[in-house]
Amino acid sequence: MADPLPAVKRIQKIRPVGGKLTNIPANHKERLVAKYHGVCHIEGPGFEKKLSLTFDDGPSNLTEPLLDLLTSLGVKATFFWLGRNVKEFVNLGRRAYAEGHTFGNHSFDHPDFTKIGTDGVLREQIRKTQLIYRDTLGIEPSLVRPPFGKVTDEQVETLKHLGMKIVFWSIDSEDWIAENNSAASISNRVVRILHEEAIILMHDGGSASRDTIKAVRSIITSCKARGYEFVTVHDLIGAEKSLS
Ligand SMILES: [Zn+2]
Repeated sequence: MADPLPAVKRIQKIRPVGGKLTNIPANHKERLVAKYHGVCHIEGPGFEKKLSLTFDDGPSNLTEPLLDLLTSLGVKATFFWLGRNVKEFVNLGRRAYAEGHTFGNHSFDHPDFTKIGTDGVLREQIRKTQLIYRDTLGIEPSLVRPPFGKVTDEQVETLKHLGMKIVFWSIDSEDWIAENNSAASISNRVVRILHEEAIILMHDGGSASRDTIKAVRSIITSCKARGYEFVTVHDLIGAEKSLS
């Protein structure tokens, strides 16, 4: 059989994920990607100059100006939203959908999956959010991003059984850090470790601020100047937009 290591081909070039909230040892994600090849993803499978911008924890009041910016720059992104917030900001969800962005399940209200076991609560967090997406946008996302990127092997098995793929990231913009952060530092952090088929983690909810939006403008401009194009995670890894 093929060596599973190519699935994590470039992770050595990427510094370990830093910060308190997302401080998952890089080797844990690498191990999951290798063990669940084609199910767990931290980046795209190839070496094309493509990137995916992903935004977690929304929708929120930040989402509208973010959509304005993405539209003005002609970029499609992927949103990993919380069921709770999709329910609250129905019109923003519909607008993002109409403008061609794609979506993943980020749970209903952001628990640490590793503290909620494998069956009842996990399934409820996923199911409730899938139903809200279905009621709001008419889709059931095929992608899930566990809050904090934390998930156990058993939970990966459960999600796989539901037909879902798990999406982590290869570049953390750390836009969620409130202190000593700025649009320039967020943008520099991303551009410094840019690589082919990277999945970039950002936020349009939670503790993210307008700095994220300013940083997005700068990231898109810098990356396009370096010859990269932006695609949705679905296009990057070859996933269906909806399970049904
Ligand atoms: Zn989150």
